[in-house]
Amino acid sequence: MNIKLQKSCYFVVFFITISMLTAAAELPGISILATGGTIAGSGVSATGSAYKAAVNPVDKVIAAVPEVNNIARIRGDQICNISSQDMKPEYWLKLAARINQLFRLDLADGVVITHGTDTMEETAYFLNLTVAYDKPVVLTGSMRPGSALSADGAMNLYNAVAVASAREARNKGVLVVMNDRIYSARGVRKCDTINPAAFNDRENGPIGRVNYGKVSFNNRSDKKHTYQSLLKLPFFAGNLPEVPIVYGYAGINPQMVETICKSGIRGLVYAGVGNGNPSEEVLNVLAKASADGITVVRATRVPDGPVTLDAEVDDAKFGFIVADSLTPQKARILLMLALHKNFARADIQQFFFDY
Ligand code: GLU
Repeated sequence: MNIKLQKSCYFVVFFITISMLTAAAELPGISILATGGTIAGSGVSATGSAYKAAVNPVDKVIAAVPEVNNIARIRGDQICNISSQDMKPEYWLKLAARINQLFRLDLADGVVITHGTDTMEETAYFLNLTVAYDKPVVLTGSMRPGSALSADGAMNLYNAVAVASAREARNKGVLVVMNDRIYSARGVRKCDTINPAAFNDRENGPIGRVNYGKVSFNNRSDKKHTYQSLLKLPFFAGNLPEVPIVYGYAGINPQMVETICKSGIRGLVYAGVGNGNPSEEVLNVLAKASADGITVVRATRVPDGPVTLDAEVDDAKFGFIVADSLTPQKARILLMLALHKNFARADIQQFFFDY
């Protein structure tokens, strides 16, 4: 090869390398915060239903989907490795602090959280109330472990990274991406115990779709974002107060409710029947608790429809709060945060309508 040709070859190789480095640097930076769940699980057989959740560490979860590196600069971080029935406020606080730190220091353009599906909606709503930035935060998981036929985790993770990388996903609150659909944290809930199409928002439906990484939002996606929520937390937030949920049913024993009310709690969510109704006996117990300073929120065990103020129950008289369309488990989260920050009941009621 003559010298001139050799020089040209060097130049071409140099140019290609620089272009590749520039292209990689232009990809969005996405932090994957792993918490466990089936997406980190494994079973012994591809067709058997038995498996163990939360066995694989974050590196292994990411390595199973190398395609994510084509659409983002990925960084993995292990928050915990648990089945999400073991999720608790301690991990929520750790997640919120880590996400706020990543965004404050401009270390990520978006965050994906891998999570068990059982309590994914609760973590999503907690973060919706406590993340103080409008960059995308997306939760995903899987219904089948990676060892199963038609495992859904790989595509869910790929799609979640695509959504977290999308500019349109900003300012939409915390999102859940499962089975090609995008949901808002407030309304999403697990609606099927075993099927990969497990999630839905029964009131509003999904706010978008993501198909092989192609993201599209529909016109229901303009929800109020809560990054300016009054419930966002400082880095060291301390412990959140204990708030139990009591599930209503025909023939409920009022003494059981009374025992819970006397256990030193500051607030309680009553998942009543119908429009959040307690029996007459339980109403008396809750009225006394409310007069004694316990904040009582009426939610419902019914899947659809809000709990409304002053229908069969005189909320104004008893000082009760209604959960609007929040499920009992999400009402509990909002109440924990609001009590932690010592808001007055009137403010808390407004939060239930706004957040
Ligand atoms: N129960 C486990 C959990 O929520 C596994 C269910 C799942 O991830 O789909 O972590």
